[in-house]
Amino acid sequence: MFEVNVTARSAEPFAELLGPERVVALQRVSEEIRGLLGAHAVFNVSSTATGGGVAEMLRSLLRYARGLGILARWAVIEGPPEFFRITKRLHNAMHGCAGDGSPLGAAEAALYEQVTKQNAVALDALIRPEDVVVCHDPQTAGLIPHFVCKGMRVVWRCHIGHDQVDPEVELAWNFLRKYVEQAPYSVFSRQSYAPSWLHHKQTIVLPPNIDPFSAKNQFMDEATTRAILFDVGLVGGPRGDAPAVFSREDGSVGRVDRQAEVVRVGPAPSWKTPLVVQVSRWDTMKDPLGVLRGFTECLAPDIPRDAALVLAGPGVRTVADDPEAPQVLRSVETYWRQLPDSLRRTAHLVQLPMEDTEENAAIVNALQRHATVVVQKSLREGFGLTVTEAMWKRRPVIASAVGGIQDQIQDGVDGLLLRNPEDPREFANALRRVLSDEALAERLGRAGFERVRDEYLGITSLENWAAVVRLLFS
Ligand code: UDP
Repeated sequence: MFEVNVTARSAEPFAELLGPERVVALQRVSEEIRGLLGAHAVFNVSSTATGGGVAEMLRSLLRYARGLGILARWAVIEGPPEFFRITKRLHNAMHGCAGDGSPLGAAEAALYEQVTKQNAVALDALIRPEDVVVCHDPQTAGLIPHFVCKGMRVVWRCHIGHDQVDPEVELAWNFLRKYVEQAPYSVFSRQSYAPSWLHHKQTIVLPPNIDPFSAKNQFMDEATTRAILFDVGLVGGPRGDAPAVFSREDGSVGRVDRQAEVVRVGPAPSWKTPLVVQVSRWDTMKDPLGVLRGFTECLAPDIPRDAALVLAGPGVRTVADDPEAPQVLRSVETYWRQLPDSLRRTAHLVQLPMEDTEENAAIVNALQRHATVVVQKSLREGFGLTVTEAMWKRRPVIASAVGGIQDQIQDGVDGLLLRNPEDPREFANALRRVLSDEALAERLGRAGFERVRDEYLGITSLENWAAVVRLLFS
């Protein structure tokens, strides 16, 4: 177990986007929350400090909470690979997928219990009775009874789920129920993710959020975007003169290092080539293989505007809590290698550096911003922050009508939804439509930006969490 340091950041810049009254109201709410908490902390416990939407959101939420004077902290649990294999199995089951189909029986339950208990005991050194503890996702559900016993105010925040009743989901709930039902409140991203046995009074629904001022989402002009992508080898020349810079959280200027560890298979597309981009973990639920097949089998040979595909994900060596990633990447790469030359040239596989630095976030920012179309062809999706991030960057998004993506995109208004994510032709047709109609692309991008501004920025999330803390103290 270790604690993650998050630097405080002022919420003042939100005034530019949403008006000063909103910030003043938030400051007032924070004062009330500080009063309720007294000397106590809001302690978040998750399973990873890097990679994926949970880490992304926590960092953003915590930095503004701290800027508002709330003692918000974050610890990450640790465990052996076998523990993370079990929790990945649980994660898949909660999405209604068998994954590798391995059992979730007594042996798995015993190891899960043992590792979560060890972490809970280690956390006793950091978390004090009467602190608020927010446990994130199935990995940390096992810690709930320990914290409840010690008198802490506990919330379970579940970021994933499945819209339908499903035997796999039931399996996961059978495993987790005895832990989850002990938390006075559980927070889900969608109402349909809450299990039927949880009393409705214990259930809260909150959408996730992005930080518009982080290195991942801050404004970046075209010349800078180009310089960053060129320097890390994601697009070919000419480079232009702009420096590859971004604004750091502390207000200083950050530079993206030419040597950033980007691993690319095949030559880089030229800056002028329109890009179809999916940025996602290497996970079958994100369907990277389906994206590659849809693009190369169904869109080729007459790819509109000679667009190219970029499938980008984290460097697989670095992801501790995602043991399936190397195998998924391998299967995508094997498929890519077997493509005829002419098609292989249209598709690019990229491993991005995943160490959670602002430099690396700026690379993702540049890639999403440079995309002509962003896709998220997930077969399952908890919420889909990559969709939010792309909408914020005014990119037209084509994404599957699954999980939280359905809440974010109104089909034809602020993006296009794929009704059957398994169908590569529907995917290719949507791509053809957006690539060939610039007015449509522009309209979807603009509406997407407005939607995110109004509903999915960190300030809304802070207001929502303030309401949860109030409930815990009522
Ligand atoms: N992400 C990233 N680099 C990658 C892949 C993903 O920084 O190579 C980020 C992405 O920008 C987003 C988060 O990880 O902020 C993924 O969140 P999402 O909700 O889309 O999916 P999750 O990974 O949580 O299932």
